[in-house]
Amino acid sequence: MNYGRTYNFSAGPAMMPEPVLEEIRDEMLNYNGSGMCVMEMSHRSKVFEEIIQEAEKDLRELMNIPDNYKVLFIQGGGTVQFAMVPMNLMKNGKACYIETGAWSKKAIAEAKKYGEVQIVASSKDKNFTYIPDCSDLDIPEDADYVYICENETINGTTYYQLPDTKGKILVSDQSSMFLSRPCDVSRYGLIWAGVQKNVGPAGLAIVIIREDLIRDDLPVFVPTYLNYKTHADSASLYNTPNCWAIYCCGKVFKYLKKLGGLEAMNRINEDKAAVLYDFLDSSRFFKAAVVKKDRSLMNVPFVSPSKEQDAEVVAASKAAGFDNLKGHKSVGGLRASIYNAMPKEGVEALVAFLKDYEEKHA
Ligand SMILES: *Cc1c(COP(=O)(O)O)cnc(C)c1O
Repeated sequence: MNYGRTYNFSAGPAMMPEPVLEEIRDEMLNYNGSGMCVMEMSHRSKVFEEIIQEAEKDLRELMNIPDNYKVLFIQGGGTVQFAMVPMNLMKNGKACYIETGAWSKKAIAEAKKYGEVQIVASSKDKNFTYIPDCSDLDIPEDADYVYICENETINGTTYYQLPDTKGKILVSDQSSMFLSRPCDVSRYGLIWAGVQKNVGPAGLAIVIIREDLIRDDLPVFVPTYLNYKTHADSASLYNTPNCWAIYCCGKVFKYLKKLGGLEAMNRINEDKAAVLYDFLDSSRFFKAAVVKKDRSLMNVPFVSPSKEQDAEVVAASKAAGFDNLKGHKSVGGLRASIYNAMPKEGVEALVAFLKDYEEKHA
């Protein structure tokens, strides 16, 4: 059905799969015979308990999450995790961070409030257009963990190889790539993702944490809500969670399972991103910002020959019915976010538009 929807290239909140939105619409006034909308439902009700438990079960299946990991649904989006991670995991008061762009910088700034941060690799020298070599990092013996932002939403880079952490715990911010490709959870101590990039509505972070990292010896001043143990002990129902977002995410998990899981999703994403990258590499007007080997399949920053022309392309794209192609103010240029829910036709339409623009203006 044609709802008059636009191809929305926003970095987040971002597109959700249309069949999921349709299902949510159909259940809006009466969820599964409960006589109410999920928004109106007690989080202590049997119906909601089933929703959250099923969401967790489907996520565990999708990501093949080992039994010794907890899945937590925590409010506050991604930014709260910048603080929760060091608050909960800094035992020796020292952690290693890899600096690859805007979101790892935010994580670093926040972690510095809780302990010593060592930046063990950085791509700052080339304006964060690549992922630094992480095969032989200088990691102190007493470091509590090594932290990465696995997909830099603003800069458009992603890891195709995880760092060698020399036996230390790996912590990863997967916000803008969560469920976009298969993930071997056992290689991480903690994975977290704000869901509004690639899964559902804003206001929820999913945390996957190895059980032995959940502590009961945190200082008393750590707020109850910011202790992972609070959420682990109460199956994410310590207080009222973001019921609506959990419900929507659960729908997306089912949608991904039906699609064939994360391997199928990854093939679709590779195929889709290639349409845009191939065009950018063949263009004499537009240029991809990131080196080939580290390019994100989710966020594609690119530039035209000048800042003035960047702005003109953005305006023309908007007039042509595409939304949110302006690059982040910290890097400029353009950026197309092409998450799981962006159909290939959307990318093809964008490329046709850019080709046409190039012919007329180059
Ligand atoms: C958006 C984003 C965040 C922050 O998420 P909020 O929910 O807005 O706090 C953190 N990390 C990455 C990689 C992001 O893309």
